[in-house]
Amino acid sequence: MQHQQNPYLFELSQTASIANHYLADLRDVNVQKDSLRFRINLERLGELLAYELSKTLNYQPAKVTSPLGVSSTHFLSDSLVLAVILRAGLPMYQGFLNVFDKAESAFVGAYRSPMESDNSFDIVQGYTVTPDLTGKVLIMIDPMLATGKSVVSVYDSLLFHGKPKSVHLVSIIASKPGVSYLQKRLPEAHIWTGAIDEELNQKSYIVPGLGDAGDLAFGVKEDA
Ligand code: URA
Repeated sequence: MQHQQNPYLFELSQTASIANHYLADLRDVNVQKDSLRFRINLERLGELLAYELSKTLNYQPAKVTSPLGVSSTHFLSDSLVLAVILRAGLPMYQGFLNVFDKAESAFVGAYRSPMESDNSFDIVQGYTVTPDLTGKVLIMIDPMLATGKSVVSVYDSLLFHGKPKSVHLVSIIASKPGVSYLQKRLPEAHIWTGAIDEELNQKSYIVPGLGDAGDLAFGVKEDA
């Protein structure tokens, strides 16, 4: 549901729907042990958010011929680029690609590099491959919008590949501080999320959140 004061912010769990079951499963420490279920729930929420986002895109009237006649319809006229932040974004990206099957894709590796002095971290960006973004609808996919720093860093680097017509950030769980940071740094970005949680812990994990989405989906990573 759109937040009343902010048409740029959408929170799926504000409306009672099956989405809340998927979110509850993702958070539940016992259900989380089933990594297949975890990935599928990220994918299903991706599909639901993609459908909500699709209502804000542009369409052109068209005719379609069935075996029995001609029907009036609308076809998507925007060109979409789905930019997935590796690795945790992959299952949610699959959900978006299921819905927007003609979209192009961008892939960006980004991870947190902890500072030795305290609990802060730098964002390190690696592998980046993207189509030209000029005039397209850019949808950045990061399931956990924690501090918002990685999204801003990825967006800044993607801008070297053309200016998109509009920009969307989609996540499964966002934190209040992450949403505020993004609204300040990227006011033009539309934010779509499953739920907004209150806070971050000292290591900048979302609380209550769900833990480490990448580890739960793909296995616990070794320290770099
Ligand atoms: N990344 C995660 O996987 N979880 C968080 O809570 C924050 C960042």
